[in-house]
Amino acid sequence: MAQTNLERQVETRLREHEIRLTEGRRTLIQALGKADGPKSAADLHSRLGDQVPLSSIYRSLSVFEDAGVVSPHYSTKGVTRYELAEWLTGHHHHLVCVNCGVVEDIEIDDRLETQLEAIVEEIGRDVSFAPVDHALEIDGNCRQCQ
Ligand SMILES: [Zn+2]
Ligand SMILES: [Zn+2]
Repeated sequence: MAQTNLERQVETRLREHEIRLTEGRRTLIQALGKADGPKSAADLHSRLGDQVPLSSIYRSLSVFEDAGVVSPHYSTKGVTRYELAEWLTGHHHHLVCVNCGVVEDIEIDDRLETQLEAIVEEIGRDVSFAPVDHALEIDGNCRQCQ
């Protein structure tokens, strides 16, 4: 099967870390590429069925994290969810359901993003902190839980 652009980018990064993109890891990257937000190892396992064992999902996510291919998202309930790093997917923010815990990606339009950057800069100035990045997280109830 033809390699997607995403797989090529991931493979190049992993090679820099002397890590091979095995078939199982490729499947995992594809699942993360299709996800609409950060997913836990258990979420990914239920999506992939027996294609990739849970233990190897945990191991691969940790390898991916070390190589900067995925970013962790920590929930207040102690669940760690992973998503492809922003250099692969683009800058975005998160909606977090306080009831079921689902985390959904959202991109905001350029006008709002510019306003948000200005707010972040101003907060930084007020506390003598030089922001390099930001992530907005909105807590609430998802469509299913409303
Ligand atoms: Zn929910
Ligand atoms: Zn995200």
